[in-house]
Amino acid sequence: MKTIILSLSMVTLFFSGKVFGQTETSGRKKIYRATHTKRTELKHTKLKVNFDYQKEEMNGEEWLTASPYFYPSDSLVLDAKGMLIHEVAMDKEGRKSPLQYEYKNNILSIRLDKTYLKNQEYTVYIKYTSRPNEVEKQGSPAKGLYFINAQSTDQNNLPQIWTDGETEYSSAWFPTIDKPNQKTTQEIYMTVPDKYVSLSNGVLKDSRKEPNAMRTDHWVMDKRHSVYLAFMGVGDYAIVKDQWENIPIDYYIEKEYEPYAKQIYGHTPEMMAFFSKKLGYDYPWIKYAQISGRDYPSAAMENTTATLHNTQVLQKPGQLADENRWENIIAHELFHHWFGDLVTAESWSNLTVNESFANYSEYLWYEYKYGKDQADYHLMSEINKYIHTPSDFQKDLVRFDYDSSEDVFDLVSYQKGGGILHMLRNYLGDEAFFAGMTDYLKTYEYQNAEAEQLRLSFERISGKDLNWFFNQWYYGSGNPQLNYSYTFEPVKKQVEVTVNQSQEKEFEFPLAIDVYDNGKPVRHNVWVTAKAKNTFSFNVSKNPDVVNINADGILVSEITDKKTATQYLMQFVNSKEFSSRYKALTGIKENLNDPASVKLLSAALKDPFFRIRIKALEILDVSKPEQGKILIPDIEKLAANDSKTLVQAAAISALAKTKNKKYFPLFEKGLNATSNAVRGSAWLAMITVEPSKADDLADKIDLSDASKDMLIKMIPIVVKNKVTSQMKNITSIVAFYPFIKSQNPELGKFSEEGFNWIMTSDNAAATEGIVRILSQAKTEMLKNAQAKAMVSQMLKEGLSKKMEFLKLNPQKAESVNKQITALNKIIEEYK
Ligand SMILES: [Zn+2]
Repeated sequence: MKTIILSLSMVTLFFSGKVFGQTETSGRKKIYRATHTKRTELKHTKLKVNFDYQKEEMNGEEWLTASPYFYPSDSLVLDAKGMLIHEVAMDKEGRKSPLQYEYKNNILSIRLDKTYLKNQEYTVYIKYTSRPNEVEKQGSPAKGLYFINAQSTDQNNLPQIWTDGETEYSSAWFPTIDKPNQKTTQEIYMTVPDKYVSLSNGVLKDSRKEPNAMRTDHWVMDKRHSVYLAFMGVGDYAIVKDQWENIPIDYYIEKEYEPYAKQIYGHTPEMMAFFSKKLGYDYPWIKYAQISGRDYPSAAMENTTATLHNTQVLQKPGQLADENRWENIIAHELFHHWFGDLVTAESWSNLTVNESFANYSEYLWYEYKYGKDQADYHLMSEINKYIHTPSDFQKDLVRFDYDSSEDVFDLVSYQKGGGILHMLRNYLGDEAFFAGMTDYLKTYEYQNAEAEQLRLSFERISGKDLNWFFNQWYYGSGNPQLNYSYTFEPVKKQVEVTVNQSQEKEFEFPLAIDVYDNGKPVRHNVWVTAKAKNTFSFNVSKNPDVVNINADGILVSEITDKKTATQYLMQFVNSKEFSSRYKALTGIKENLNDPASVKLLSAALKDPFFRIRIKALEILDVSKPEQGKILIPDIEKLAANDSKTLVQAAAISALAKTKNKKYFPLFEKGLNATSNAVRGSAWLAMITVEPSKADDLADKIDLSDASKDMLIKMIPIVVKNKVTSQMKNITSIVAFYPFIKSQNPELGKFSEEGFNWIMTSDNAAATEGIVRILSQAKTEMLKNAQAKAMVSQMLKEGLSKKMEFLKLNPQKAESVNKQITALNKIIEEYK
């Protein structure tokens, strides 16, 4: 995945492209990013490593087997970031003879003992020290190898080691050709403290006890995979076993969460079965393991057979009762084991062949497991992230002109790319679409590919030319921006629907148009040509009640659509597809008290899909008599016993708007629920209807595991009432208040107050929480000068508040001084 975690947490919600874009490119010439030239082909990488926890370094020995790729060569050029190189030698069956080498600017250039020919293999031995902190000092956005709390000085953290290679950071821990178009088999001997477990790619062949309570684990990966997918993890984990057919599936889980491992990861075998069948290609690797890494800044990473997750994957029953917030990411990383690990993008320009598929696998899983509505809801949420980021409208999906390889990991490669695959699937039909994917996997297995090769596979299977589709959506940017109108001709009994494209470059595409005749929709599938204006005529018996374009929700587009409440009601009641129902429901927002809107809301509260019920509960307002009279009885039922706790919670919040004290006992009961959402909503509802009880209620809830939606709702209450026990739980939001302020002034104001409250208190956990989250966000923030300056300013002001506090409270010097040290350290990092 390798999505920045910020996009999953509270922050990006408040960022628009303007506030926080990708690398600033204005005024700079674009560079063509060619695929890396293969002079050498890696064959096998053997490593022996041990870790220096004190110095945060790794001692390594490497035996690298390679050969010239095509042309004869007497040299080997390797990436090696921030290392000390101690010895380089040719290794011939264990006999070493020294080789000449030069090491500078992170490149290790080795003169071989002679000229080698294509496919003539040699093995080079390298003894080195990996120094990840040196890599960072050199200004690299990532350090490849991470020692977390290595000296066990932080009581709130666990000592862990993990690696993260994408895009080109594996060369921070072993000399290699750090390009995605290089694949190698691999084995690693890792010497680790015996009290810890280790994880790497492939299988654990054997384990040997060593002196001084150490142990050496020998991991072997006998299938070729790309260098950036290499992984090592070390730490104190429980290993919970699962399996699919003969494939072992291991969950490396922090011990506190061991009882919930199967609830968190337990769908993995079913996902593996489903994807294997859907792709016509069984899971290609020898095992599958998943692990979480403390302070891991991305969401997750699909290291072959050893996926690394952010600790947000770890959830307790309160969260799991509502939903497994990580389920789509678990599916996404597993799917990469075909699209990404088995067939790998040959360059970062072609990242779409990894990430768009992994993104779309989330749709496939939801569709299979929970039905089409759930999948469509997810797709809509994903596409909306892209649609709301206009700076992304200029970016091609296949992008040969990025500034930093990190830039390609964005809403275009992921979210929009997933939507593009959904369109392609609907154009080709399921059978051709999935057969095309199988063809692509079988043709390029254990190799690299680019988007062109994907097109060729789909063309080979379907017999259809797809240049028109790929030129628009893969090698082009933007999306259709549509408006439409219609006129009825009573004599011909025809309606003429005109579809206008207003974006810069016109698109051609299939489009579903529903024309409502006598209250019932008739579906017309038309072809819109690449012209500003397309007109279509359909037979009708009278002037249509409603015309609804993109009725199936498949086209990635922005559509201007204004209907009356009565028309929205008709659309809601008659549409089978989620997106048309959802658009009708949100369409009445401005006009909620209209009797037709109230009818629509009433129908939405009974919708079989729970997200529709929630949306209705969020937009209605029963303090208005027009709505309250009709809707309250249904909402009371939903609050008491909807099958989904998220609906119960939304219903409780909806009832709180009445400020009617008669609901107090219902809310009080909610406080004892397992579900975080129900408990949180009940707590807020009680304070809303009985503000005088806020102080008594302050400590009656634990926010440590609260979802971001819940935190956003609770922050005003926590800050206004100075609920000290919750102070440490609000850091993940208040640490970003300058950004939030520009997007959501109300929440921004409370977040700023919250931040200042922490800075004028002696609360070590909260202060360290701020420091930790900003340290995690650093990689992303430092890419943007403006964002960096905003954080830096905020921290400096925070620091002076903390010092002021110390002056007034000298008796707290010991604790406050530690907090000041931590703040100074993070200020330094943002310099
Ligand atoms: Zn991914």
